Amino acid sequence: MNRRKFLSILGSAGVVSALSTAREAKAGGTHSFPYYEGSYGVLHDTTRCIGCRQCEAACNQVNNLPKPQKSFDDLSVCATRRRTSAREWTVVNKYVVHGKPVFRKLQCFHCNDPACAAACFAKCFQKQPDGSVAYDGTQCVGCRYCMIACPFYMPGFQYDDAFDPLVMKCTFCAPRMKEGKLPGCIEACPMDALTFGKRSDLIKVARSRMRKSPGKYVDYIYGEWDAGGTAWITLAPASGTATAASANPAHDLHPLDLDTHLGNRPIGELTYGALGAVPMIVAFWPVLFGGAYAISKRRDAIHEAEKEAVAREVKNDISYVVNTAANKVAETHGPAAADTVRQAASDALKVCERPLRS
Ligand code: SF4
Ligand code: SF4
Ligand code: SF4
Repeated sequence: MNRRKFLSILGSAGVVSALSTAREAKAGGTHSFPYYEGSYGVLHDTTRCIGCRQCEAACNQVNNLPKPQKSFDDLSVCATRRRTSAREWTVVNKYVVHGKPVFRKLQCFHCNDPACAAACFAKCFQKQPDGSVAYDGTQCVGCRYCMIACPFYMPGFQYDDAFDPLVMKCTFCAPRMKEGKLPGCIEACPMDALTFGKRSDLIKVARSRMRKSPGKYVDYIYGEWDAGGTAWITLAPASGTATAASANPAHDLHPLDLDTHLGNRPIGELTYGALGAVPMIVAFWPVLFGGAYAISKRRDAIHEAEKEAVAREVKNDISYVVNTAANKVAETHGPAAADTVRQAASDALKVCERPLRS
């Protein structure tokens, strides 16, 4: 029994929202969110990037973010593997790839099928027709499941705001786009390392660059398909001959911290698949993510043995709740439906376990 059938069973029992069923039908069973044909994206050509941090400065300015501790003129910070945060929606890091420096700009990738949106109960994230993934914090409960679900670790949290902390991330400068302006970082880049356009055109531009300069680029457009595809895509420099590069793109992408193991299916499919079985699954979802969050938050601080003990404990909790939920489904819808609930839980657990390996 496939998930569509499973959802239709649950739907007929009145436990799946009309929204999720509609999405499932529209998306052909693979994607949870519609793909907007004319949506925009950005091509980051890392062979052009010089690590000048002008994009960081522009992002800070156009979004009225807090002043950085070190000036944007200080390029030495690029040598540290920085992550985006509530105060820094984009950072440029320096990587050494086969002995040569390469700079890569990090920000929300504006996934076609955002895992952050799939994981959020409060529906704070929405994929927009312009390609951006928008966040509206008015309903945000601060659970930070979006942060755990994001395969790129992009959303930041306002930990220092005691009263109304929100999740913060790159907005794709959607307000500027609405005014017909370019995103701040793209306008500021002096090297044309960031190209704005329709995502479908950018894929063609990327292919054309690879064709015109054989051996210059890794034969792989990062984000074309990864994690279900992203609006922001990346070209990386090849290390040697075109043959060597095309034989193993991961060889050249991993040193840039570009994860080629995410697969081509949306990460959100895993989370949304489990969320599709609400409210049965919703009952244990906080346990799943709460447990994973507790572990990931403490992972730097606790000893390996203790970490394993916590993980075991969380998994036991999850097994108990999943089995209870599956037994209830079995009573009303039969054993096949119960198996699907267990499979959804197992998929969800894979997402939860991911932060433990980083
Ligand atoms: S990169 Fe992360 S935060 Fe951005 S849309 Fe994708 S899942 Fe959401
Ligand atoms: S698109 Fe806007 S919000 Fe996103 S990194 Fe660029 S300047 Fe910052
Ligand atoms: S402004 Fe352009 S060249 Fe400078 S660091 Fe950002 S992406 Fe690279």
